[in-house]
Amino acid sequence: MVNEVDINPKTRGDMPKTSYSKPTIGSMGKTGSWRTFSPEINYDECSKCRTCWLHCPEAVISQDEDGTPHIDYDYCKGCGICAQVCPKHCISMVRDLEKKEVEA
Ligand code: SF4
Ligand code: SF4
Repeated sequence: MVNEVDINPKTRGDMPKTSYSKPTIGSMGKTGSWRTFSPEINYDECSKCRTCWLHCPEAVISQDEDGTPHIDYDYCKGCGICAQVCPKHCISMVRDLEKKEVEA
């Protein structure tokens, strides 16, 4: 619960014991229309190592029982960290506009 954290601490003692980005799904609400890039996983190359799941600061990557990662685009912020850390280089950052044109 994000409201457990005092976002305007007046003293060091008021500061939270953990970072503000404590993993929780959608802590700050759904991503607006401002996102410009979205990650796309090439499942043919994915080794299910879970590195992307581990590093996503929004905790929006979930896994199947067999470890297959899935990204919740309602909450993904498009930061690209998952693509940077993927050891198989199988996550591409794709412009949202291009994705919408392909889907249309
Ligand atoms: S980091 Fe890359 S290889 Fe590992 S689970 Fe995620 S997408 Fe797959
Ligand atoms: S782009 Fe950022 S927020 Fe979206 S799934 Fe990757 S690491 Fe998480």
